[in-house]
Amino acid sequence: MSNLPTVPGESGPGWSTWWSRIKAAYERGKGIVALDSRVRDLEAKLGDNRPSPYRKCPACAERDFRIQDRYRSRPEPFEGRYFHEKWLCFSCGHREAVNIPEPE
Ligand SMILES: [Zn+2]
Repeated sequence: MSNLPTVPGESGPGWSTWWSRIKAAYERGKGIVALDSRVRDLEAKLGDNRPSPYRKCPACAERDFRIQDRYRSRPEPFEGRYFHEKWLCFSCGHREAVNIPEPE
């Protein structure tokens, strides 16, 4: 304990100094956590702003590939359910129909 810094006028280590340092470190830590959550908020916002129903068209690469229809289907009675999706590109007219297995 002898190499701890001392505060002038105090014989022992300056506990108030240590406490203010601990508090400062704690505040810094809180700041990092707050920044981290802000970044996550921003990412979530960016995700929301993305034109989710308009995808990049696989044929012409235009971001005009839109969903036309989406419904649940069960093509085989002993298989799982699917989401059936119909897509149409408004730029080039490319059509696509996909069956997406429904997650359990
Ligand atoms: Zn297209």
